[in-house]
Amino acid sequence: MPKRRDILAIVLIVLPWTLLITVWHQNAIAPLLAIRKDDGVEGKREAGGQAQDSKEYCASDKDIVEVVRTEYVYTRPPPWSDVLPTIHIITPTYSRPVQKAELTRLANTFLHVPNLHWILVEDSQRRTPLVTRLLRETGLNYTHLNVETPRNYKLRGDTRDPRIPRGTMQRNLALRWLRETFNANNSQPGIVYFADDDNTYSLELFEEMRSTRKVSVWPVAFVGGLRYESPKVNAAGKVYGWKTVFDPHRPFAIDMAGFAINLRLILFKPQAYFKLRGVKGGYQESSLLRELVTLNDLEPKAANCTKILVWHTRTEKPVLVNEGKKGFTDPNVEI
Ligand code: UDP
Ligand code: MN
Repeated sequence: MPKRRDILAIVLIVLPWTLLITVWHQNAIAPLLAIRKDDGVEGKREAGGQAQDSKEYCASDKDIVEVVRTEYVYTRPPPWSDVLPTIHIITPTYSRPVQKAELTRLANTFLHVPNLHWILVEDSQRRTPLVTRLLRETGLNYTHLNVETPRNYKLRGDTRDPRIPRGTMQRNLALRWLRETFNANNSQPGIVYFADDDNTYSLELFEEMRSTRKVSVWPVAFVGGLRYESPKVNAAGKVYGWKTVFDPHRPFAIDMAGFAINLRLILFKPQAYFKLRGVKGGYQESSLLRELVTLNDLEPKAANCTKILVWHTRTEKPVLVNEGKKGFTDPNVEI
């Protein structure tokens, strides 16, 4: 017969262990149950009801511990409203190792912007399968165009044929498309913005430009060797010059990413295009803007041009090692 003292000793040893194992087990399954519970709550919220049933859901299923995997494929359509003007974003793009990365980054930004129409113009002989697929899979509203900049115009240092600035023919094609597609007298309200594929855009920028009446302007970071360039704005909120070191006497000393134009102005001035030839470096933007507005017309945005909402960034060219004849990676994999 075990003595009472022995029984007490055994109980005192076994009891803490039992408690410990029970708590441990509870902790291990609680998160899994929580996943199921959250699912229930979410479903109810969508249906506009209460989440009371979720406890029952757990109680009846409590013996089944199963992790529900979420699909992370983006299928939600971008926001659209009948009252907001459409923002037509014009992006020239060309084939290079980082192109798909740049366009993916850009598309991810644009997916947050209501009423956005992306006009993507490839600098190529044909619209490429890579860009075609990418655009289709984003779910964005888009127009896919292409025009190839003639090779000889891409070369530097040829004095007979000065280089056509990068992306210029593509931007002009998009302007032509807008004029052929929309009617000057009864088109939907719209804004036109030139967004190169390598820059970084804050979401706030798109809401700032949406109220553009003629041409709106704001600072751009990392241009002209400066932390940022900016229009100069006086106390009355008027633009009277340019904070820049690179040729401040340009009529519009502003980067492509620093202004947006009302669609009606583009439609009412059908002759206004970026000049292709004989444009000095940095005069590209002026060649279009001087056809559309005067300094006095400019509308400063981004808290009277005191906030940076766009960064003129560029992606480092990746160093790709020669993988030899056999190759370590599949050349058929699209990157
Ligand atoms: N681009 C193009 N064809 C070219 C070079 C550039 O369509 O041969 C596009 C490029 O994808 C970008 C825009 O034109 O959207 C401006 O080019 P980049 O960023 O190289 O010029 P930078 O910022 O140096 O002026
Ligand atoms: Mn760039």
